[in-house]
Amino acid sequence: MIDTKHLKHFASIVGEKNIYSDKAHLLAYSYDATREHFEPDAVVFPRNEEDISEILKYCNEHKIVIVPRGAGSGFTGGALPSSGGIVLGFEKHMNKILEIDMKNMVAVVQPGVINMDLQRAVEEVGLFYPPDPASQEYSTIGGNVSENAGGMRAAKYGITKDYVMATRAVLPNGDIIRAGKRTIKDVAGYNISGILIASEGTLAVLSEITLKLIPKPKMTKTAMGIFASVHEAMDAVYKTMASGITPVAMEFLDNLTIRAVEQTFHKGLPVDAGALLVTDVDGNLEEDLNFQLAQIEKVFRENGCTEFKIAKDDAEAKDIWFARRNASPALSVYGSKKLNEDVTVPRSALPELLERFYAIADKYKINIPCFGHTGDGNVHTNVMVDGSDPEQVKIAYKAIEEVFQATIDLGGTLSGEHGIGLAKAPYMHMAFTEEEMNLFKSIKVAFDPNNILNPSKMGLN
Ligand SMILES: Cc1cc2nc3c(=O)[nH]c(=O)nc-3n(C[C@H](O)[C@H](O)[C@H](O)COP(=O)(O)OP(=O)(O)OC[C@H]3O[C@@H](n4cnc5c(N)ncnc54)[C@H](O)[C@@H]3O)c2cc1C
Repeated sequence: MIDTKHLKHFASIVGEKNIYSDKAHLLAYSYDATREHFEPDAVVFPRNEEDISEILKYCNEHKIVIVPRGAGSGFTGGALPSSGGIVLGFEKHMNKILEIDMKNMVAVVQPGVINMDLQRAVEEVGLFYPPDPASQEYSTIGGNVSENAGGMRAAKYGITKDYVMATRAVLPNGDIIRAGKRTIKDVAGYNISGILIASEGTLAVLSEITLKLIPKPKMTKTAMGIFASVHEAMDAVYKTMASGITPVAMEFLDNLTIRAVEQTFHKGLPVDAGALLVTDVDGNLEEDLNFQLAQIEKVFRENGCTEFKIAKDDAEAKDIWFARRNASPALSVYGSKKLNEDVTVPRSALPELLERFYAIADKYKINIPCFGHTGDGNVHTNVMVDGSDPEQVKIAYKAIEEVFQATIDLGGTLSGEHGIGLAKAPYMHMAFTEEEMNLFKSIKVAFDPNNILNPSKMGLN
């Protein structure tokens, strides 16, 4: 419980109406997408960068914990105040697109800008901001940068880090820093923006972000390939990506996922297929798109694709994407508890990774349906069990540990897009050596010696 003298001080900085400390609001800010729940002591809405600086300086002096929060859509607990303290919210005031610089193709935004609002604003002037997490309608650019969010277009366009040119941020002691420039090249000094990306609010509070924009491609086409086996589909993924064609998206659903979507939504999906691949290509010329699709079909068919369907119009494209977009909720047919991970491997390791996951499922007699962004080597792995059975839940966590071990053995990473937060903190020792963890901890101490900023996240303490 926070002392009221501290609340009075915050009110003197931001004004009474920019602080919530009543039960209903505290409850509303105690969740993210993990279903975990930790109540903050108060929620404070800075009006600008100077407010953030004043708040952090005071918290640093009084050792009050601060947790920055975007939309709270994180899957790993990054925005949860697991050690209590103040949640810093940006949605009230710091949610503006400050500039779209057409000459340099750059956008400057405050951290609370919603991803989709930025996409729409830049597309109105013929530009394109590609990172599109499935949470794009509500997740914020501050949260996207702090988690290094990816999305459906990453196979061709990369992820959030590929678009961050510069950041302004406030350090826990209140100092305001600029990192990076509105330049294509900048090799002066350490890459501080690079360290802040994916730092999950543990090092500094982002107050302004400068993002690279690119020209908007004029057209997109969608296609779907049906495969008899997952192994063949995974072969087709890495061989397509190495064939000289770069599709925008190369998404995958395995047999268990196809069945779950069909059982839930009755879309006429091929329930006997081993896997489906959904792909998008884009460009400015019809002939170019047709060439890309012909090349993809060739590689798919050489690798066991039994049917290749190109969407004739937007409605058919939407239909093809329906299964992929609704994969996650449909999986509840396999159990009330889902441990969903977003492991990522080098693409050529995908066939073996999937085989190892299904072997783990067989060993524990559980279902592990998989789908995801295979064009980036990123597999959403869902360990499904009956959440009301403690034995099953225990088994699920054992299986997850083996999922991580298989991923690491194949040269992969614990997280391709959702971050570490609280959920994956217990597994960091599997992926990093003691020396590497010590280096992470030294970086944390250099930014935040009093450990006031989002403590107990990322396995740092
Ligand atoms: C249905 C659904 C689909 C999703 N799909 C995807 C997907 O396709 N790809 C993907 O990558 N993720 C996805 N996510 C996860 C989530 O949306 C992303 O991680 C997103 O980037 C989080 O943004 P947010 O604004 O909700 O941040 P929050 O969840 O509020 O916060 C995330 C982290 O950022 C920190 N943070 C927030 N703002 C700041 C700031 N200004 N300064 C410093 N730190 C800050 C927080 O402390 C926290 O550690 C999905 C989530 C849901 C619920």
